[in-house]
Amino acid sequence: MIDFRSDTVTKPTEQMMRAINQAELGDDGRVNSDGKGEDPTVNKIEAMAARLTGKEDALFCNSGTMANLVALLTYTKRSEQIAVDAFSHIYQSEKSIFMEEYFGRKPVFYESDTRGKPILTTVDMSIKKGASLVCLENTFSHKGGTCLSAEETNLFCERAHTYGIPIHLDGARIFNAAAYVNESVEALVALTTSVQFCLSKGLGAPIGSMLCGSKAFILKARKVRKLIGGGMRQAGIIAAAGIEALQNLQWIEEDHTKTLLLFSLIKAQPNLFLLNNVESNIIIIDLTPGELAAIDVARAFDKRGLQVKVISEKQLRMTVHKDITEQDIKRASIHMNTYFTAIKEK
Ligand SMILES: *Cc1c(COP(=O)(O)O)cnc(C)c1O
Repeated sequence: MIDFRSDTVTKPTEQMMRAINQAELGDDGRVNSDGKGEDPTVNKIEAMAARLTGKEDALFCNSGTMANLVALLTYTKRSEQIAVDAFSHIYQSEKSIFMEEYFGRKPVFYESDTRGKPILTTVDMSIKKGASLVCLENTFSHKGGTCLSAEETNLFCERAHTYGIPIHLDGARIFNAAAYVNESVEALVALTTSVQFCLSKGLGAPIGSMLCGSKAFILKARKVRKLIGGGMRQAGIIAAAGIEALQNLQWIEEDHTKTLLLFSLIKAQPNLFLLNNVESNIIIIDLTPGELAAIDVARAFDKRGLQVKVISEKQLRMTVHKDITEQDIKRASIHMNTYFTAIKEK
């Protein structure tokens, strides 16, 4: 099977398994007067994440969902409004922050263009409606892994700063954005108040996300994480794999090259399907022009040894990662072209 469902399907490398075995451990739940836990490996990855993003401090979380939730809970109270894009991962997939029976914050929507770039007039409107926090996503998952530059991010942040409200960036794949726009992660998050990035997407770690922000923010966030059950003990065993993951940033560029190769090999057939413009490691196949249903195409691909993700009735997503080789890409494209050609000739 060639697994294009997500860049989370990667298995830890042998080096990660060795690092896990050799990690120096302590109880991360016992916090000293400086607000840091007792696990030296967790402290090490938190310092690395802070340095990478240019923020004062960082907090190790078990998932991106947990990191985003901790951030949003830290900034806001029940019934307060949070400005999000309606297609964002936070709103579409994480949800609990806005569910009345869970955390009861209210979404207020701004809009983004097809590339995921926020339309600033709508950002203004969302803030004027009463949002006390704005969220941004880079790369923008549901728009096909599109990437914002530092300049585009800064324009958005400056709007929020005008009103004196904080900005949380969901940077699950921020390294993909940094590679595409050819800027540092630090530059991309310079004006955001906080940022979350995943170690388990593209970088090969089995578990983990980093929430980064000011020292005061992380101190509060650590308490929130504990309250919602996200505190961990000898978490150095997973942080050790995360530290290894941060040595693998070169994989991201390789993923982009492989994605462009796949993109160029699949012949877009306007009467059958359309492709989004590829910027990072995600390709969305939109079947809207034709009669095909996404689920049927996914089943047919599955029989040919290709796993893809159905994201709507008419859309499939393919995500490239380190465990997919150039050879796999070529094989996959042959299967896909054969399938679509047969449909066309029917
Ligand atoms: C995957 C993802 C998350 C959540 O990460 P998990 O580790 O799966 O909880 C958040 N935001 C975006 C944009 C993502 O792609």
